[in-house]
Amino acid sequence: MSAATTLAARRRLLQRLLAVALLPFAAGQRRVRAATAPLLSVDAPAAKAVKYVEDARRAPGAAPGSSCATCALYQGPNGSTQGPCQLFPGSEVKAAGWCSSWAPQM
Ligand code: SF4
Repeated sequence: MSAATTLAARRRLLQRLLAVALLPFAAGQRRVRAATAPLLSVDAPAAKAVKYVEDARRAPGAAPGSSCATCALYQGPNGSTQGPCQLFPGSEVKAAGWCSSWAPQM
């Protein structure tokens, strides 16, 4: 094996190690981007269609303990105050919110 081949192999190895080392930062960037999505307005037609409210305690149809934070469609991290919902792409919902499409987590 020549010196040039060894150097190229080392360079490729370093590039792979750097890519693996940066993966957590890339995942963090995705979370930051998701956190900057606009909050869903309760007045939006799509929100009204499913009776979305920002406080589940004010929703007559909400079962005790049901909120966006406990919904299968909620994509915010544990302990978040708001996060993405699969029902409303491009918007975030309040973790304390609720809508008539609430589904239990499996
Ligand atoms: S589908 Fe679930 S997470 Fe989305 S707004 Fe309704 S209750 Fe909240």
